[in-house]
Amino acid sequence: TTHQRPRLSGGSSLRKRAREGGKMLSSSTAPSLRLHHHQPARPRRRPPAPAAYRQFQSPAAASRRHLPAGAAVRARGATIRAIDAAQPFDYESRAAGLLEERQRLKIAIVGFGNFGQFLARTFARQGHTLLAHSRSDHSSLAASLGAAYFQDPHDLCECHPDVVLLATSILSAEAVLRSLPLHRLRRSTLFVDVLSVKEFPKNLLLTSLPEGFDILCTHPMFGPESARDGWDGLPFVFDRVRVGDSPARRARANAFLNIFEREGCRMVEMCCAEHDAHAAETQFLTHTVGRMLATLELSSTPINTKGYETLLRLVDNTCSDSFDLYNGLFMYNKNSTDLLNRLESAMDSVKKRLFDGLHEVLRKQLFEGKASPPNTATTGHHADVHRRQLLLEGKPPSPSVPTPNNVTVPK
Ligand code: NAP
Repeated sequence: TTHQRPRLSGGSSLRKRAREGGKMLSSSTAPSLRLHHHQPARPRRRPPAPAAYRQFQSPAAASRRHLPAGAAVRARGATIRAIDAAQPFDYESRAAGLLEERQRLKIAIVGFGNFGQFLARTFARQGHTLLAHSRSDHSSLAASLGAAYFQDPHDLCECHPDVVLLATSILSAEAVLRSLPLHRLRRSTLFVDVLSVKEFPKNLLLTSLPEGFDILCTHPMFGPESARDGWDGLPFVFDRVRVGDSPARRARANAFLNIFEREGCRMVEMCCAEHDAHAAETQFLTHTVGRMLATLELSSTPINTKGYETLLRLVDNTCSDSFDLYNGLFMYNKNSTDLLNRLESAMDSVKKRLFDGLHEVLRKQLFEGKASPPNTATTGHHADVHRRQLLLEGKPPSPSVPTPNNVTVPK
């Protein structure tokens, strides 16, 4: 009700009474606008408003609470000085506040690099308490986000976070997890990972964590580059690998997922194995093509096509991530090797089609319409010369001159 216009509950009876007696309605006796319940018979003097309501008496204060400046509504000599929204015992607003409070989490980000910091900005904006730990010293950046930074993982764990978020590189995940003093955490801590592969961390967490810990494997399928303008509509994959069967534990996992839901992510619940099968095609393929193109050192030209610009953007998007990340996509997703082999044979088959067409042209040039069988030694030599020219110059054969044995060779 805090954002509603003042609701004049019992307003008609108020007007009637005001008309009848021109009585002054006291704010002290009418904490809510249900004035028909609380109207004094004949208040002679306006008693001071209780402190809790005084802030709503000025138009400025009213506008701060999204109330019209005339929140002190006048009705023929009667002044209304309080509304529902102002009440400290307003059930709706208190319940909403309580819910919001319950959704707030103490999140420890382990691996405070590129992606960990990127996530931290949104977590902080949503009002969660942030702790961070990494191999390097990121304390000043953490401070700028309002996060407490711990160089020593023991100090981090002693803060008893609700959630430990593993955001370290895929390659270092196992070593980093082993370096955490798990015995210092609460026995029911929720572990979440955001690694770009999913079966590997799932097995790692299941085998390394005590049974009482909850596990949520997630993959926000976007990064600082692709989500520069917000997370709205971007896919967020998650698998509730192990969430204890109690309302509090379910609520905590949901509160974490809610961070992404609130930002408008497209929430995709999917098992880790299925994620990896899809991700080899979507993510590893994209990164591989981007990295291949990067080796060509492409640059913008005065005649860029839209397609070419897409390729330039792909290079930017993929190469801004660390090579460790890309390497992890290959090393820790068993589907990546197969994808790489398929990509290679796809390139071979496209090349073969081009070269087969080229040989067809050559064969016609060399053999069609001739009177005597070709001299194989000469033919082979001229064919080689011709093919080389085609390959080097990249254009159809130039006009040819006849040879003594009727085989044409380039000029
Ligand atoms: P990254 O290169 O994959 O990871 C960098 C983080 O790993 C840094 O915090 C770094 O620590 C830590 N690290 C690296 N080697 C380490 C080692 N030997 N020992 C201890 N810590 C080590 O880059 P990232 O982009 O920040 O990605 C982090 C995680 O998020 C990865 O698992 C990645 O798959 C996932 N992810 C990334 C994106 C993205 O767009 N970037 C999107 C979704 C998921 P220092 O801070 O101390 O250097």
